[in-house]
Amino acid sequence: MTIRSFNPPVRTLMGPGPADVHPRVLAALARPTIGHLDPAFVGMMDEVKDLLRTAFRTQNALTMPVSAPGSAGMETCFVNLVEPGDEVVVCINGVFGGRMKENVERAGGVPIVVQGTWGRAVDPDQVADTLARHPNARLLAFVQAETSTGAQSDARALAEIARRHDCLTIVDAVTALGGSPLEVDAWGLDAVYSGSQKCLSCVPGLAPVTFNERALDKIRARQTKVQSWFLDLNLVMGYWSGEQKRSYHHTAPVNALYALHESLVMLAEEGVEAAWKRHAHHHLALRAGLETLGLELIVPESERLPQLNSVAVPAGIDEAALRARLLSRYNLELGAGLGDLAGKVWRIGLMGYSSRPANILLCLGAMASELDTMGYRADAGAAIAAARAVLDQAA
Ligand SMILES: *Cc1c(COP(=O)(O)O)cnc(C)c1O
Repeated sequence: MTIRSFNPPVRTLMGPGPADVHPRVLAALARPTIGHLDPAFVGMMDEVKDLLRTAFRTQNALTMPVSAPGSAGMETCFVNLVEPGDEVVVCINGVFGGRMKENVERAGGVPIVVQGTWGRAVDPDQVADTLARHPNARLLAFVQAETSTGAQSDARALAEIARRHDCLTIVDAVTALGGSPLEVDAWGLDAVYSGSQKCLSCVPGLAPVTFNERALDKIRARQTKVQSWFLDLNLVMGYWSGEQKRSYHHTAPVNALYALHESLVMLAEEGVEAAWKRHAHHHLALRAGLETLGLELIVPESERLPQLNSVAVPAGIDEAALRARLLSRYNLELGAGLGDLAGKVWRIGLMGYSSRPANILLCLGAMASELDTMGYRADAGAAIAAARAVLDQAA
């Protein structure tokens, strides 16, 4: 058998990421590859850094995309900020908090876990208590937008508590960036990482990061070398911020960066705050439809992420079977539950370009009609009408 060109099916992506990629971004990806030290490319990279500052709401000089997925953004923060023996308070209320703990351990740090509840925000009082009991801790790590559950934690409050205890913050904003309020400077977040394929709606494989001066001071004061050569910010900075003397570090993923540039231009055109509003509005429309179907969101309303909706699977319904039907009949991808929530929820992403009316109505109509044939009474028309009524209100 001859292996031929790969032509993927055209899907609608409403899972936990990647989100739908806008045609403008895909078109940017296909532009001619040039050298990564070409002056034209260097100029574009400077624009990417500026656009990322706009998205992160920061003036931080060290703001750039790491040439690898969100997980590498996470690792960049931990390997640079954690030195062997450092006590790090890590909040775990889902999958990604657990990964932060792994990162602390592998960097030789000592994790002190604030164990939260899956599907709930991180509890600020619990964090304050833990920091008070561990006065040697100098870092607090938490996930702002837990994609594994759909819970949103109060990054501003947690950063304030950290500062009172003389701790720096490492914040996972992979799903937050571009989708819900994130104010790196105003909230005093010290090291923040994200990903390209969630609410930025770019292709996967890049991890925007930003570090303030407090974080850089800690890195400069390290007694030991960063154990990862590739992610050592002292070396990466020479490549990304070396002004005139930009030196070779690694070959940047040139075309992926064209795509990120385009997605950030689109975000700037829309306006960062307008994008947050759009995500919030579309979440309400989806919620109205789901409620009409009698389906429940598992996260309490005040802690819900608009861009990731965890829906309880009704009794007697096969979670995976519904997703399989949606994929094969409608080319529609929803996410499954992870960890404690495996088999119990569907995760419906409304991220970036996926957060649009056509997707919401498709999702509700397809879910309702399939659930109906699976023995769960569901009125597709009523669900669509309920969502439609919310969409018709001004955002
Ligand atoms: C997706 C995600 C990551 C990991 O990003 P990858 O690009 O998959 O490596 C980390 N944290 C959160 C909260 C995420 O949603």
